[in-house]
Amino acid sequence: MDGAGPIETHWFDGRSPRARAVTLRIEGAELLLHAADGEQRRYPLARVRWPERRTHGQRQTELPDGGLIQHADAAGWDAWWRASGQREGAVVGWMQSWRATLVAMAGSVVFLAAAWVWGVPWLSQTLAHQVPDSLDTRIGQQSLRQLDRLFLGPSELPQKQQEDLRQRFTALVERAYPQGDAPHWELAFHASPVLGANAFALPGGFIVMTDELVELLHDQPDAIVGVLAHELGHVEHRDGLDLMVRASLISALVGVVLGDASGFLATVPATLATQAYSRDAERRADAHAARLLHASGIPPSAMVVFFERMLKEDGEDGEGGPKPAQGRGDDSDDGARGASLPIAIASHPDHGERIRFFREWQVDAQR
Ligand SMILES: [Zn+2]
Repeated sequence: MDGAGPIETHWFDGRSPRARAVTLRIEGAELLLHAADGEQRRYPLARVRWPERRTHGQRQTELPDGGLIQHADAAGWDAWWRASGQREGAVVGWMQSWRATLVAMAGSVVFLAAAWVWGVPWLSQTLAHQVPDSLDTRIGQQSLRQLDRLFLGPSELPQKQQEDLRQRFTALVERAYPQGDAPHWELAFHASPVLGANAFALPGGFIVMTDELVELLHDQPDAIVGVLAHELGHVEHRDGLDLMVRASLISALVGVVLGDASGFLATVPATLATQAYSRDAERRADAHAARLLHASGIPPSAMVVFFERMLKEDGEDGEGGPKPAQGRGDDSDDGARGASLPIAIASHPDHGERIRFFREWQVDAQR
């Protein structure tokens, strides 16, 4: 380590403005300073701020006691430094190598990609579950008001039919959560020609089902409660909140990258109207529905008829994809005609795959 001899150089002790002649030597993990007048000092190498290696210019070394070493002959200093067996500061070395710069850039890309793929979902799920219930409820109420303005009208279902369905679902939840630890939920029926046969869940446990869906499944109450159980799965996993947190994380990241973080919070309220739950969230909600149905004595395959009828409706409306909103009879409102709600159940892809899932579901395969 200390293969090099001493180097003669100049020292400012931090008090006097006068430079003093000194010799420096590296001994083990220490820098030894020996002044011509006999004064000696020792500094741990790790606490010395070594000069960056530039191509020219004097070398300036800062000592932990406020002193300073100035060495005019840069090449001489660098040679002594290398001969002392010291490695280049990693950062300095990297900055001098283009190849290393590219590696560092690739590393950043990999890091960002990893943050995107794993970090953001993990963080948003974690944060979503940290949000207190009261805030969850307020966010839910606010988004429900917003969606209500955009998509929903008062239900035209007879009160008795609404009550029957609500009781049926209450009974299912009570059987599926015998400890009484079901998440809080509130069910509302609404007419929505725009959304068609549909249902969705919002933060705070607000579940909306359209009259159109009740009519589509009028003879299949088990499938109706199955759809509600799917929505309760979204409530239990806080998927709505997760979505909002995720959207704001991503716009926050974009803001950081572009240097403009202003206004990303303003996008949050619109998130629930424009974003979809992830495939994983949907599969989890389906699995949740299957377990709930099974726990209350209904075979999960009761859900199959729902997807079959959705498929049939899609077929009548045109090729594949989420059902376009029917704007029958009002051409005046372009916004509403093109509207759809990605978090709603009718927008979820792959009816075929889901039919298979519910048809083939078995209790022991889920453990
Ligand atoms: Zn869903």
